[in-house]
Amino acid sequence: MESTYDARPSIFESASREEWSDWHWQQRHRLRTLEDLESVVEWTDEERRAFEASREEFRVAVTPHYATLIESDDPDDPIRRQALPAPGELDPRDFELEDPLAEDAHMPVPGVTHRYPDRVLFYVSHNCPVYCRHCTRKRKVSDPETAASRSQIEQGLEYIRETPEVRDVLISGGDPLTLSDERLGTILADVQAVDHVEVLRLGTRNPVTLPQRITTDLCEQLEAARPVYVNTHFNHPREITPEAERALDRLLDAGCVLGNQMVLLKGVNDDPETVMQLNRRLLECGCRPYYILQCDMAEGITHFRTALSKGLEIMDHLRGRIAGMGVPDFVVDLPGGGGKIELVPEYLEERHGERVVFRNYKGETFEFTDVADADD
Ligand code: SF4
Repeated sequence: MESTYDARPSIFESASREEWSDWHWQQRHRLRTLEDLESVVEWTDEERRAFEASREEFRVAVTPHYATLIESDDPDDPIRRQALPAPGELDPRDFELEDPLAEDAHMPVPGVTHRYPDRVLFYVSHNCPVYCRHCTRKRKVSDPETAASRSQIEQGLEYIRETPEVRDVLISGGDPLTLSDERLGTILADVQAVDHVEVLRLGTRNPVTLPQRITTDLCEQLEAARPVYVNTHFNHPREITPEAERALDRLLDAGCVLGNQMVLLKGVNDDPETVMQLNRRLLECGCRPYYILQCDMAEGITHFRTALSKGLEIMDHLRGRIAGMGVPDFVVDLPGGGGKIELVPEYLEERHGERVVFRNYKGETFEFTDVADADD
């Protein structure tokens, strides 16, 4: 398959190849209603009920490109699980939190989260091409009433200008690529013009859900601000379509440094071989697997969560079977704004003084002699 166009659902039969490649066309033709989506999936009764009930909570939107990846007759399809509402969204749990990472509590001004001393999260849009069902920012994303206004973005920029300890700005949302090229280019230039800002990052899922968005014009804006560290969000190897590959290639040509943040999701990628395949494909495309994120304690996404031991099992599998570049950090973002911590499998088996026994990825043990620290 050269393009998802070749496998497009019948509802898009009359679309031309040119239209399919146009991100505005893709945005305008997003599938949003039960009837629209009936053309790409066979709904189960439970899913129908979940769709109706979740309408008020978290909107549904699926680009034609992403809809093409769904196996229509498989209720457990990993792409479908990410794109369509499931009954688990309507099963509230006591421990779930509306704002699991306390992003709002750490906002010195609306639209900027300043938690770690040297970096801020700067929200410039609350819209996305596809509303991922596992989204941790459901409280804002897809809600037009909370969209970042121009005055809010200006206030955020002012905060960054006036806060010299901010060295690193992560432009996020929603998805910042829902803004026009000009608007995004202006924001990038404004942030870059701040003397104390050294690192510019952009968090976007567009290469996955709307890769047509990575146009030559957009890349010109990114190139003007190079290097921009682009964090993508591929969760499954099937998401790396020919269009996604071309999008990543264009970003590389524009001088972007690419990293992927995968969220560990039950029924999507909670299996070591799936993650291995994903990471191999990402490396092939010049995108380094950066994080495996434990799914947060956000409202309505507990059905996606896996035990911590699953992430450790995946890490154990990756180590030794793929180059270190393909082994991301497995992190938990602590609730309440505690920040990220990294979890690693236990490799140290025993220690007797300076004699240490380690286990390798095959389970074989090896003895290592430690040295006393000069200060001991
Ligand atoms: S692209 Fe990101 S912000 Fe948007 S719905 Fe998906 S996870 Fe949430």
